Amino acid sequence: PEDIAHPVAVALEVAGAGPAIPLTPGLPDTFFEHDGQITKQAVRALTLAALAPKPGERLWDIGTGSGSVAIEWLLAHPENQAIGFEQHFDRADRARRNADNLGVDWLEVKEGAAVEALESAELPHAVFIGGGLNQALLDALWKLLAPGTRVVANAVTLESEALLAHWHQQAGGELLRLELSSAAPLGTRRGWKASYPIVQWRGVR
Ligand code: SAH
Repeated sequence: PEDIAHPVAVALEVAGAGPAIPLTPGLPDTFFEHDGQITKQAVRALTLAALAPKPGERLWDIGTGSGSVAIEWLLAHPENQAIGFEQHFDRADRARRNADNLGVDWLEVKEGAAVEALESAELPHAVFIGGGLNQALLDALWKLLAPGTRVVANAVTLESEALLAHWHQQAGGELLRLELSSAAPLGTRRGWKASYPIVQWRGVR
């Protein structure tokens, strides 16, 4: 329909062909160029649900990697804004490229270590921590963020899991453990191939 102003819809109309991009979070991983450091589809869908974007809101995506979480935040509404923080220059470039390819070229990516870069950024309505999680980052966020800001943090290592377990005791919120397996060949038959468990903390500043 002509009244769809969403950039992705417009891009598809202009292109007139190619795969349609669903607007619900949890796009296939293959939609994003990545080097293996990407929040996988199912975990990404749960993460976006926890971040709960509303029209016009801004996300900070700390350790933006491929940019997939920030990009899905932007796809949720054309007025949404997102700032990605990424310490590796090549990944920062890749995140910008993914945003361009998926029609949300207003993603802003700040290169460098997160804690310093946060201080000069416009305050967000929600924060996702997908990398760079440590006590100093949480303390810095708690100083900077306005009360009511939603925060979601994913941990894969035992060290960051321990940090979130402690943080949950201190700050409340919800702590989830996401364990996913998918069927894969096992000899001549199939077996469950497990992904690393992800511990996710969801809370409000
Ligand atoms: N959510 C991302 C994947 C994150 S992987 C996606 O879906 O693509 C974690 C990322 O955090 C890596 O790219 C790593 O370079 C970045 N990172 C780790 N520590 C960081 C820090 N202190 N500041 C900024 N980025 C950091």
